[in-house]
Amino acid sequence: MFYKSWLLNICNHRFTCKTYQRCRRFSISSHLWNVRVRFAPSPTGFLHIGGLRTALLNYLFVKSQKGGGQFIIRIEDTDQSRIVPGVVENLLNQLKWAGITPDEGPGIGGDFGPYVQSERLDIYEKYANQLLDNGIAYKCFCSERRLEILRRDQMQRKERSRYDNRCRNLSESEIEEKLDLGMPYVLRLKLQNDIRSFEDILNGEIKHDVASIEGDPVIYKSDRYPTYHLANIVDDHLMKITHVLRGQEWMMSTVKHVMLYEAFGWKPPQYAHLPLLLNEDGRKLSKRQGDVYVEQYREGGYHAASILNFLAHYGAGFTESSGIIFGDEVATPTKVLDIMAKEFSMEKVGVNNSIVSFSKLGEYNSTILKHLLSDERSINCMIEELRKYVLEKYGESNILNKMSNDEQKNEYIDRVLSIRKNHITVLKDLISEEYNYVWIRPSIPHEEIQEDMMKFVLNICSFLEDINVDGLSKEVITPRIRDIQAKAKLKIAPAMTLLRYLLSGRKQGPAVAEIICILGKTESVARLKKIQQFHNKSPSLAKM
Ligand code: GLU
Repeated sequence: MFYKSWLLNICNHRFTCKTYQRCRRFSISSHLWNVRVRFAPSPTGFLHIGGLRTALLNYLFVKSQKGGGQFIIRIEDTDQSRIVPGVVENLLNQLKWAGITPDEGPGIGGDFGPYVQSERLDIYEKYANQLLDNGIAYKCFCSERRLEILRRDQMQRKERSRYDNRCRNLSESEIEEKLDLGMPYVLRLKLQNDIRSFEDILNGEIKHDVASIEGDPVIYKSDRYPTYHLANIVDDHLMKITHVLRGQEWMMSTVKHVMLYEAFGWKPPQYAHLPLLLNEDGRKLSKRQGDVYVEQYREGGYHAASILNFLAHYGAGFTESSGIIFGDEVATPTKVLDIMAKEFSMEKVGVNNSIVSFSKLGEYNSTILKHLLSDERSINCMIEELRKYVLEKYGESNILNKMSNDEQKNEYIDRVLSIRKNHITVLKDLISEEYNYVWIRPSIPHEEIQEDMMKFVLNICSFLEDINVDGLSKEVITPRIRDIQAKAKLKIAPAMTLLRYLLSGRKQGPAVAEIICILGKTESVARLKKIQQFHNKSPSLAKM
């Protein structure tokens, strides 16, 4: 609640402060030194769309520097209770898929490793002790139970939950006594009692009265792990990070971080807290509202290039007029990133949260699909890919297996792709239920049918049998079907529904002529002739 109103104050300040909007571009100093940025995920969940966007903006920022720089991955796993197994591999894998390749990080190496915080515990211990020895940190023996009671009392009094700094003034003998009793303790940072601020590249001056609002924060836990705050700033300092670009949700913590830098006598990096990506209902993107993990889109058949474009579309400073950004021939993520890095400018990054619409991602992907389908080399890859999906889903009984050679099979798939390319978002759409008829013969229960309907279908068969295979086009087929239907004195709607049903097992769907073009002459005739097994006379199907 408080967090929200605090953020709101900052936002209001931003909206009203025109001078700030004009000036903020001058607060980025990156040309002076070798830029080093990091993406520092905690392995508590698979890579989220929002996480990928943070990684992307860091990557683009460093790649857009004339003087060069490094993009580092650091795994922040100090909260051991929240680690999800397999997440680190997943994170690295998804980033690699998206073309975001780190210069340093776990499994890659670098001069500032190790890059996994749980492998750096001795370092944090040393720095925590340094603060303790200097009297800037102190031992706190408050038990979880005491803190819980404190929180409850504050809640009852309708006060903000805050640590009351009780252990700050323990005497030497009190501390000794507790240590002798083997009482566990944490280290807390003694905060100065004044309102602190820092200059954020995007958001201007950010103030937060952390001392009176939160009380002294824990920096080192009783399990000999540092908290996020200590580990984060020690690593940013030792890894020579020059710019921290991270989500706005960390903005409150930054005031604490700046105080820690002061305590060590170090110069903090420059901070840019990125606006959030929100769902269409204005809430933070979360898995409750649908797919938010990069892996889900990857497995669903989305191209990395589409996801990169989708993320760049929201608040990253690329204009709509620049249109979709992809490489000249094949939309590889590396090419997309190269093009983006040339256009990227931190000064253009927005300050307002963005409401994202996943239909935009679909639009990008279908544009990329069409782009790929216009390239000879990528068509062959897509034919192969689709063939693999078909085999996986329909097994050996799919109709490709009835064809005598690979050339025929590929021609068939190529036809499907070219006829349906404007109607799909991902390649896998072509194996969704709606497209089952393309790959397997539908099973159609025998029904009773009027004799004139039966004749009509068989006349269509004769027309198709006579037609030259090369003549299979919508333009040729549609008028002939209409002609036959008119001569049979049948109503158009039931006649077409019957043909569609026999061909696809569906009463609604693409135009009959299109289905025939996809299936080809032989397969279409075979399906239509099934009508001969129907019983004559009854009007049931004619009413469809
Ligand atoms: N470990 C934090 C996270 O999981 C990163 C915070 C930061 O970038 O400083 O999001």
